[in-house]
Amino acid sequence: MEDQNNKPRIGTVRKIARKLLADIGINNPPILIRDIINYIKKEKDLSVYSWAFGDDTDGIQITEGDTATIGYNKTQHPHRQRFTVAHEIGHLLLGHTGKNFILDLNSKKPEEIEANQFAAELLMPLEMLKKDFQNGKKNVKDIAKAYNVSEEAVWWRLYDCKLITKI
Ligand SMILES: [Zn+2]
Repeated sequence: MEDQNNKPRIGTVRKIARKLLADIGINNPPILIRDIINYIKKEKDLSVYSWAFGDDTDGIQITEGDTATIGYNKTQHPHRQRFTVAHEIGHLLLGHTGKNFILDLNSKKPEEIEANQFAAELLMPLEMLKKDFQNGKKNVKDIAKAYNVSEEAVWWRLYDCKLITKI
C-alpha cells in the first residue's frame, strides 16, 4: 500500500468491512453510519464533523497519532454524505493514515479503490444484497430505499457484484 503501484486488496478490504458489521451486530439494512462511528469510538479517538467544503471536496480524513478526524461536505446529498463518511472510515481502518486523502470516485490509486470498495461493502453488504435479490427484491428503487443509498449506487453495486450483467 505504501507503493502506489501495488494492486488494491479488494478481497481483504471487503472482509474487513464485513467483520466490522458482524462485530457491531448489524444484520439488516439500512446501515446506520452513526452505529459504526459509535463502535469505532470505543477503540479510537475519532471525531466526525460536517463542513461546508467547496463543491469539489466530498470529505477528508486526518490522523495525528491516535487521533482521527473525518470531515464530510454537508452541502451534498445525504446519500453522498453517507458514502463519503464510509469511504473515510475505510481509509482509517485500512491504515491509510498519515496523509490527507481526498475522495475521488474515479481515482485509480489503490488506496482510493480500497476505500471505495470498503464503503460499498459497508453500505450495501453483498450477503444482504444477495439475500434480498434471491427473495425477489430486484427493484432498484426499492433496494436503494431499503439501504438508504442512491439508485445509481445500487446499479453499480449490483453490476460490480455480478448480480446483474448489464447496465
Ligand atoms: Zn479517499
